[in-house]
Amino acid sequence: MDIIHLLPDSVANQIAAGEVIQRPASCLKELVENSLDAGATRVQVIVRDAGRTLLQVIDDGVGMSEMDARLAFERHATSKIREAQDLYSLRTMGFRGEALASICAVAQVEMTTRRKEDETGTLVEIHGSDVVRQEPCACPVGTNIKVSNLFFNVPVRRKFLKTDQTELRNLLNEFYHIVLVYPKVSFTFVHNDEILLELPVGTEKQRIEAVFGNPKKNVYTSAFVEVKTETEMVGIRGFVIKPENATRKAEQYFFVNGRYMRHPYFQKAVQTAYSGMLTADYQPSYFIYFDIDPQAIDVNIHPTKTEIKFADEQTIFQILMASVREALGKFTLAPTIDFDAPNNLDIPLPADAPVSRPQVTVDPGYNPFHTRGAIYPERPPKNWESLYDGLQNTSNRPQTDIPESREVEVPDVEHVPVWQYGGKYILVASEDGLLMINQHRAHVAVLYAQFMEQLGISQGAMQQLLFPEVLALAQDEMVLVGQLLPDLKAIGFDLEQLSPDSYSIQGVPAQLAQQSPVPVLQHILAQVRERGPDTQREWREQIALTLAQNAAIPYGKNLSEVEMRDLLARLVALPQYRRTADGKIIVSLLTDEEINKRF
Ligand code: ADP
Ligand code: MG
Repeated sequence: MDIIHLLPDSVANQIAAGEVIQRPASCLKELVENSLDAGATRVQVIVRDAGRTLLQVIDDGVGMSEMDARLAFERHATSKIREAQDLYSLRTMGFRGEALASICAVAQVEMTTRRKEDETGTLVEIHGSDVVRQEPCACPVGTNIKVSNLFFNVPVRRKFLKTDQTELRNLLNEFYHIVLVYPKVSFTFVHNDEILLELPVGTEKQRIEAVFGNPKKNVYTSAFVEVKTETEMVGIRGFVIKPENATRKAEQYFFVNGRYMRHPYFQKAVQTAYSGMLTADYQPSYFIYFDIDPQAIDVNIHPTKTEIKFADEQTIFQILMASVREALGKFTLAPTIDFDAPNNLDIPLPADAPVSRPQVTVDPGYNPFHTRGAIYPERPPKNWESLYDGLQNTSNRPQTDIPESREVEVPDVEHVPVWQYGGKYILVASEDGLLMINQHRAHVAVLYAQFMEQLGISQGAMQQLLFPEVLALAQDEMVLVGQLLPDLKAIGFDLEQLSPDSYSIQGVPAQLAQQSPVPVLQHILAQVRERGPDTQREWREQIALTLAQNAAIPYGKNLSEVEMRDLLARLVALPQYRRTADGKIIVSLLTDEEINKRF
């Protein structure tokens, strides 16, 4: 009997949704990008409970015909490309044709849409991929799409959403990435009936000011100078902050051909341009827009990826650095400016210079432990991925972490074989391959959970110091410690003010007994200051994370078998154990298939 079968669409869509729609912010991005692709001049975003309850996007774009309104929700339905070749001349934001299919698989979607030439519009309502209603309706030209109760049918996902505050911040960040490249489109963003942003049509500069020009963000365009360079290879324009206006917490944005991108190597170029002009931990804010032939960049095929590869990164690095220096030179008397000799500077190589990496195949159906109450009725066939080309991860970074949308059961860590490798990883043999667990990060996750709990109930285990140490602080740090004091006490620090600019440390969290407390406290202060968390919850997360990083077992420490099993048991007992609180991968799998291939 044949055992391979095609997955029903609803299941395939849910799997894809795991990739495309990870949180409300990714859903918002897809919807707003669709509006822009549809030529909207006005886009309204209405959100409830940080997107958990409602995400609505209303546009005045071209709208859809009755037929298209239904087709739009089919997998790989797109009006934007017809053949593979089109991928290389993309000018639209979307092209994969899977956003709407993914969204409607994991939410309740209601859409009304009308084209200018049609008298009546169309209403479509879809709940978890099931069309529950499609009928003609009266509505304005454009599209109005309402996404309610995101992940209503994927409880695990829903449970793993962060606090409303964090999800709202993600939504806004995603929104910034888009609105900063569409100053000619007006936008509003409403959250729980409060207008958070009202962005009229204007220039790029006015848009930046409209988004960030509030006292809290401390970014005013008067604090910036303009960058503008045209070369045959690339056009670079935008704004960079005057050195004297730099802060510890910067707004840093790169855009390429109208898309936001992250680019650590180019960030380095900007930073290098500022060398010698900024105090040690100050960061330059910038908004830089690149224009380049689409053929010279790698198409951003992965829906959630914001890194983009350029054909000639080193040359662009030079051009970028020189343009920023030139712009700064007009406004400062920095003696270091020497446009003719940018090569004299110590220019780092791209962090990701082309090297061939091993190709790691991923089995997304893989569950290292036993599945209980899995979302999918059956395990997808091993090669399901090839069914959906668009889904394949084309980045050359091996994606070996385990998909997050599974409920897992604690593995039988008492009985499976475990080893330590390289003083860094714990290896666990499992049915599907070799699990590799980063020992330091695993411990960070365990400690983080502990610290967060202690902060919640205010009773961290404390170890008294025999010889109290002195923490000398600058004035702003004194203020900060004052603010953090209750939380630092709750987590186990015993601090007493000694003088107007120092505290004595008399006790430390028991987990920290091995470390010298002064650098740890300084690290916490620096992190809190740099990240600028603004709620107590975020403070606490930052404190707990920094503390956990300091207290966790380091690399190179040999672990006994008992220690390894203990750590694993504590790790898998956490609600989220695949990544640390700051998103680093803890668990990775080398599949059985991958191992066999080598022989
Ligand atoms: P993609 O954007 O990759 O084509 P989507 O799933 O996001 O895929 O959308 C599918 C199709 O639905 C689009 O190609 C477009 O034709 C249509 N569509 C989606 N949103 C809108 C909108 N707001 N206005 C007009 N057409 C839309
Ligand atoms: Mg789209």
